[in-house]
Amino acid sequence: KDASKDDDKKVIVMGTNAEFPPFEYIEANEVVGFDVDISKKIAEKLGLELVVENMQFASLTAALQTGKVDFVAAGMTNTPERAEEVNFSEDYFTASQVIIVKKDSDTVKSKEDLVGKKIGVQLGTTGEIESKEIEGATVESYDAGYSAVMSLVNGKLDAVVIDQKPAEKFVEQNDKIMILDEELTKENYAIAVNKENEELLKTINEVIKEIQENGEYDALYEKYFGE
Ligand code: GLN
Repeated sequence: KDASKDDDKKVIVMGTNAEFPPFEYIEANEVVGFDVDISKKIAEKLGLELVVENMQFASLTAALQTGKVDFVAAGMTNTPERAEEVNFSEDYFTASQVIIVKKDSDTVKSKEDLVGKKIGVQLGTTGEIESKEIEGATVESYDAGYSAVMSLVNGKLDAVVIDQKPAEKFVEQNDKIMILDEELTKENYAIAVNKENEELLKTINEVIKEIQENGEYDALYEKYFGE
């Protein structure tokens, strides 16, 4: 069933992977976060109720293509490869991939040191794609970024490559690890929709523009990323 073509529905379905704080994470059994709040604005604009479908990050583009979800808000990096499968909104967040290491280990001090190392990543992410480019590196893919971080803490990995903001949250929760100053990439997050759904894409772009102009984006930024 194509959710995006169901005219009778009173809901709009957003797909995400709630393993990515502060963009999407679970709090009191509910998926919350920066992306969820933006998605609520989109639903509000359409006069629909927001339903959040939490699934594996690697399943999100397929869920759009099969109509299981109407749009994806998942800290998803806008890449040319993905843009062949889905349409992206205007970028709404500037991000980067960073390297997390254990404080008591000096084997990885820069990105050059990742050559030949064991790197943990989250399945289906740009961090995984980037890490697989590193010469001689063994890349271990986990369903959740936090599981990769736990493996690092337990000495099973030399480093974790993951998006900066979630990395900061994971490091906050664990004093045995730290983020290297040198970033691996710069990238941009965008909201994804089914290629056929031009109308929804237009509305999403309007909402992004509106909240950037009326201060709501800044308020959300402060709420989730403020010191
Ligand atoms: N920004 C990364 C990507 O798009 C990771 C996103 C995520 O894990 N939710 O691949």
